[in-house]
Amino acid sequence: MTDEKKAEILPGDRFDAVIVGAGFTGLYMLHVLRQKGFTARLVDAASGVGGTWYWNRYPGARCDIESMQYSFQFSEELQQEWEWTERYASQPEILAYIEHVAERFDLTRDIQFDTRVEAATFNEDTGEWMVETDRGQALHARYFIMGVGCLSAPIKPTFEGEADFTGETYQTSIWPKEPVDFKGKRVGIIGVGSSAIQAGPLIAEEAEHVYIYQRTPNYVVPSQNRPLTPEEVRDIKSDYKGFRAKAYAGLTAFLFERHDQSVFDLSPDERRARFDDYWNIGGLPFLGAFNDILFNDDANQACIDYWRSRIEEIIDDPKLVDLLTPDEEFGCKRLCSGTGFYEMFNRDNVTLVDVRGTGIERFTPTGLRAEGVDYNLDTIIFATGFDAMTGSVTRIRITGKGGQTIQQKWAEGPKTYLGLMISGFPNMFNMVSAGSPSVLATMVTAAEQHGDWVGECLDHMRETGKTVIEATPEAEAEWTAEVKRAGDASLRTNCDSWYVGSNIEGKARAFAPYIGGWPPYVARCNAETASKYENCVLSAV
Ligand code: NAP
Repeated sequence: MTDEKKAEILPGDRFDAVIVGAGFTGLYMLHVLRQKGFTARLVDAASGVGGTWYWNRYPGARCDIESMQYSFQFSEELQQEWEWTERYASQPEILAYIEHVAERFDLTRDIQFDTRVEAATFNEDTGEWMVETDRGQALHARYFIMGVGCLSAPIKPTFEGEADFTGETYQTSIWPKEPVDFKGKRVGIIGVGSSAIQAGPLIAEEAEHVYIYQRTPNYVVPSQNRPLTPEEVRDIKSDYKGFRAKAYAGLTAFLFERHDQSVFDLSPDERRARFDDYWNIGGLPFLGAFNDILFNDDANQACIDYWRSRIEEIIDDPKLVDLLTPDEEFGCKRLCSGTGFYEMFNRDNVTLVDVRGTGIERFTPTGLRAEGVDYNLDTIIFATGFDAMTGSVTRIRITGKGGQTIQQKWAEGPKTYLGLMISGFPNMFNMVSAGSPSVLATMVTAAEQHGDWVGECLDHMRETGKTVIEATPEAEAEWTAEVKRAGDASLRTNCDSWYVGSNIEGKARAFAPYIGGWPPYVARCNAETASKYENCVLSAV
């Protein structure tokens, strides 16, 4: 993008809305507001659109939702004309798509790049937000809308001696734009989450040696990624609307075949055959093999037994199978979908380093020391995850009514009404984040649903002459309890994961996304709109 195309920066500007984040969510919100005749300024710290797909450029970065579904549906022309090449799109292809959308709907003229929002303060006298950026600006807006993503506040542990390490370090979540050369290098990768699982096998093909430092193993299933065939694309596009409607009716807003049968409805042979079918489908849909994998301990154990039998077929060394086998429920953490992850450990140039004991103790000038052993490394990669769900919100100093900050408000975990609104923070909308299905649904579909909901809400405010909207404390308490109830009903709250915030020291444990299902969630949102916001207080200042 040329500098001329970037939105002009005018200190002290006033808008109907300031939107934070130029990923799928913020871009769609901007599009909706513009269509409705509201003025908006979108601010993003990156130099271009894309959000998570702008930053996560590491080798192998790829979506785990099918590309024909991980895309906008608001424009029939867009979805008919865009050509996805693979079942699961790679980061470059998704970024190209988002750039195309921004260009096609002329969004960039209202986006201010290379600018980080540092603070936002609600003024109770004017009913407006003042949004402060790292460029020393103060943007004023009636509505403050966060589209900052669930996995966009990267975390990186610090180790003694890091400054003395003479090699290169990288972080998967803020990967450089320029290609990184691993040829002839000894590479250490810290972590075995989805990012490391995708990057490791590709780096191992190039590097002299790869050391994977694993503290807690993860379940990985094969993604079974492949090129899309012209026939299947034609088939979906012949009735894209109908295809989307079917996805919308499902629990996660994406379409995959889900068997409504218990593991125990089938004989052992039939059960194995069903698991085989779903292994061949691969990726997150593997969880659709039976309806009780995530809800019944014995069904979950049957799934683990099957998974283990497959991993034993892949990995030559049984000791490695033991080391790579998690001791928690299957699917409790987000299931990792990979290509060649377990196969990688049969290579002579890959070593799994179990760091469950004393861990990575320190960096040295020539590498790192883990579990009492010194490793010589040229390159160290942090694939160490995110302050998920809330971190991208709480790293901004947001101050609501009575001087209360979002950090104070969420000290014991996120409290929201429908995920979208926060009592005490009027005229603020927090999109596709804690308290809504977000990461458990298709993020793009969730972005559209929230964008439409906020758009209708702002229409209502304009039509009725109201200027301030705030969820009641009672509605927020009821919804927060419902989010907890739904989480408690699932095995997913049982283990440590970023879903519950346990990867961040001192963070209150709470299952952040709403796991009660997409259709009931959408129905609740629609009911709120239909009731003309009966669970909110609307006023005019
Ligand atoms: P992650 O799942 O949180 O994994 C972070 C890894 O770093 C864990 O293995 C963690 O070990 C390890 N770690 C952190 N600090 C460490 C330390 N001091 N010493 C040793 N190990 C350490 O993060 P992620 O891989 O970036 O994935 C996060 C989420 O992003 C995914 O679950 C997924 O939702 C999304 N994502 C999706 C895709 C995709 O679509 N395919 C790709 C990438 C990311 P512990 O478990 O022991 O803490």
